[in-house]
Amino acid sequence: MRARMRRALVLRVRTCAVRRGVGGLMPRTLVVVGAGVSGLAAALHLSRVVPAAKVLLLEASDRTGGWLQTTCTEEGAILEHGPRGVRSTGTVGTNTLQLVSEIGLESELLPITYNDAATKNRYLFVGGKLCKLPTSIRSVFSKLPPFSQPLAWSLAREPILPRSKEEDESVHAFFTRRFGAEMADYVVDSLCRGIFAGDSRKLSVRSCFPPLFKAERSWGSVLLGMLVGSGAVKWDGAKTEVMERARREGWAQWSLRRGMQSLPEAMEAALRAKGVEIHLHSPVTELRPAADGGCQVLTEGGILAADHVFSALPAGVLGPLLPTAWRPLAQALGKIGSVSVAVVNLEYEGRVLPVTGFGHLVPSGECGEILGVVYDSCSTPQHDRSGPPTTRLTVMMGGSWFTGAFGDPQRVSKERLLERAKETVQEQLGITGQPLTAIVKVHKDCIPQYGVGHWKLLADISEWTVSHRVPLTLLGASYDGVSVNDCIYQAQRGVERLQG
Ligand code: FAD
Repeated sequence: MRARMRRALVLRVRTCAVRRGVGGLMPRTLVVVGAGVSGLAAALHLSRVVPAAKVLLLEASDRTGGWLQTTCTEEGAILEHGPRGVRSTGTVGTNTLQLVSEIGLESELLPITYNDAATKNRYLFVGGKLCKLPTSIRSVFSKLPPFSQPLAWSLAREPILPRSKEEDESVHAFFTRRFGAEMADYVVDSLCRGIFAGDSRKLSVRSCFPPLFKAERSWGSVLLGMLVGSGAVKWDGAKTEVMERARREGWAQWSLRRGMQSLPEAMEAALRAKGVEIHLHSPVTELRPAADGGCQVLTEGGILAADHVFSALPAGVLGPLLPTAWRPLAQALGKIGSVSVAVVNLEYEGRVLPVTGFGHLVPSGECGEILGVVYDSCSTPQHDRSGPPTTRLTVMMGGSWFTGAFGDPQRVSKERLLERAKETVQEQLGITGQPLTAIVKVHKDCIPQYGVGHWKLLADISEWTVSHRVPLTLLGASYDGVSVNDCIYQAQRGVERLQG
């Protein structure tokens, strides 16, 4: 209680010390709310592009990083409870690599190349067995389970199919139309569970896979569009050494030596070095329009006067903080749903995996609540404990199927989730016995769901905020991509939009 009062006082004192800019001219007071990777990236970019501004970052919890969370066990094993791999390709991947260099993490990078088993071997668990997904040209021409015919059939006819005029449709409907029911039911259904922990029959193709949607629109064919690079934004920034190395060595993804949490830790250190104030234990309780066109940010410690607020909160968290005058915005934000995921880290004695690869996904038709299993020891063996060999695995459960299978994410017992995870690795990988380490995390509402029509919701939100001169920029995974890369890239673009 005393500590909380002390923190409140500090916030108040610092608030008084902040001097507001005049008429929107620099320097200005800019408040970023939420210190997940989006909020951290926004604050870093602000400190770079508006160096004269006063930047404050407010975070409700006792740490920065949001879903990027790592445990290092006493024996030295690194266990990820959130993201574990970041793609290094494309503009957004290149952008993150550049950030990693800037904040001095380059020597910590653990590349996963296209030649690694973790990139080449990916499996589906169908009909009680692991089925390796085709990755070579030859395998596309063979009939491989679970498919009833070679994939080449559905690929060959795709370019000649008529294009749709729909403004949006579900990912499942899109893939069924273009590549057939098996591709949709096995591959794409599983992919949506792996990325969004969501249901491909409800997720929007336009918002979840924009390059594929654009490819059909522009070229009448997904394959043709992908071949000519439809929708790809070209990297126009400087080329750094790490980008060259990633290209030369064929990196597909990367992790970090001390785990993903070291990314927000390094971002936080860079922000502090630049003089950005970071307030932990500072949940924002309300946002209010100010008479001068700015925004009042209410926290337990006092009221901050901001010229502009960057919200890096999930849409469902931000909505209830908005004032009555911004009700249409709050209502629109309330339509962006999210799902909860149980993440169970398991570590077993010995090398116990029957195959090598990134992991396997389970199509919803096989089992709703088990989304898949990641073979962490295969992709990042450097994260195994030292000493005799062990195997690290992560079982991902729930998502869109969480409540149906386990009930309320806030009430479900961790013992029950652990039992279900152990049963899963026994059933699907033949791994028996007791794990050396087991950690169960229930991440409530951790992955936003872009339903069909999400693009229109975003367009309406943008129009409303601009026309009502709302001094608020929306950042974070709820809007334009859930990957770490997308969150960082979109946060930077959000900052630049305000710049002008
Ligand atoms: P968050 O991380 O949700 O951050 C929001 C922050 O706001 C939090 O720190 C929270 O405490 C704070 N906050 C909440 N309320 C308030 C308030 N009132 N006032 C102040 N602060 C508040 N992506 C990949 O690229 N690769 C992967 O392998 C991958 N795997 C994933 C696995 C899991 C289990 C999960 C959950 C996600 C994964 N993702 C992955 C996605 C990616 O990690 C997230 O989309 C991304 O981290 C979201 O970041 P964010 O900053 O937008 O939101």
